[in-house]
Amino acid sequence: MYHVAVVGAGMAGLSCARHLHHAGITVSVFDKGRGPGGRMASRRIDTPEGPASFDFGAQYFTVRDADFAEQVQDWLAHGVAAPWPAARADAFVGVPAMNSILRHLAAPHEVTFSALVHGLKRHGRRWELLCDGQHDRHYDSVVLALPAEQTAPILTLHDFDLAQTALFARSQPSWTGMFAFAQPLAHATGVIRDTAMIAWAARDNAKPGRSGPESWVVQATPQWSLAHLEHRPETIGPHLLQALAVETGGALPALIGQSIHRWRYGLSAGTGSGSLWNPEIALGACGDWLIGPRIECAWLSGRHLAERIIGTLSQFAR
Ligand SMILES: Cc1cc2nc3c(=O)[nH]c(=O)nc-3n(C[C@H](O)[C@H](O)[C@H](O)COP(=O)(O)OP(=O)(O)OC[C@H]3O[C@@H](n4cnc5c(N)ncnc54)[C@H](O)[C@@H]3O)c2cc1C
Repeated sequence: MYHVAVVGAGMAGLSCARHLHHAGITVSVFDKGRGPGGRMASRRIDTPEGPASFDFGAQYFTVRDADFAEQVQDWLAHGVAAPWPAARADAFVGVPAMNSILRHLAAPHEVTFSALVHGLKRHGRRWELLCDGQHDRHYDSVVLALPAEQTAPILTLHDFDLAQTALFARSQPSWTGMFAFAQPLAHATGVIRDTAMIAWAARDNAKPGRSGPESWVVQATPQWSLAHLEHRPETIGPHLLQALAVETGGALPALIGQSIHRWRYGLSAGTGSGSLWNPEIALGACGDWLIGPRIECAWLSGRHLAERIIGTLSQFAR
């Protein structure tokens, strides 16, 4: 049975896994994180008013491609996604959290979390993942579904031509704050976008399927995030809160919980090539950075690579 190792349980990796699985191919998925999500991550913070939950990566997604629209209908039918018109008329979110969609996509597969893959080793025609605790298992093919900056060092040793695409792709950072308050903020729509410092801020507890205390996600612009990239998180929080206070009319209510996250490789540039695949050594890469910085693009890139792998296998079968 042909066996593919997918490294990365974000949208691209799980889309690739899904399409391979539907073609009858055995898939094992690995991720360094503690659960599925990647840049569609969600986090819970305990507060005196109960748990507050935040989507601290992607905020919502939109749909342009007809096949992705069909996939979204399936998520709606399974209750893991819902429209969020407060963000924009055609926006969707995961429910009850953004990462619910990825949990749903991951369910049919063998997924190993807390598995940091630091390299690959070739044994004849098969691959070994260099990853603590994963020795002695060999795969027919490997898919790298990681941001470009994390793909490049692994690809370089095995296919420098493919690696060049990743080496030239550059992501932009995002400093993101998650803040829970004792009282609601004075803001009617609960969505703030494109101010001098804030790229996006939203009242997360008002998204579909959420509850809990007043909770806001605040994401700084890429320019501001880059200028403060190496600052410590505890110095970033006050800036994000100050910017939120300005936009919501002055003094903020008492803060009852907070967390700060730096997305070093947050928003990809998008190279437009769809996916990378070397059929000779059965090594490929997918991810939003191979199309554009959106959830839909990550899904399309994963499917693009799966179709190329399936195409290669059917050529050998002829
Ligand atoms: C702040 C922010 C806001 C955004 N807002 C939106 C939005 O509103 N709408 C939208 O459509 N998109 C948005 N995006 C973009 C969207 O999140 C991404 O396009 C999409 O989630 C990328 O999916 P991916 O699978 O390509 O990569 P990722 O989600 O990054 O998945 C890569 C996975 O690989 C794992 N990994 C990395 N290195 C290793 C390793 N060595 N070994 C094992 N595992 C590894 C990571 O843990 C991660 O789970 C936003 C992104 C950010 C950061």
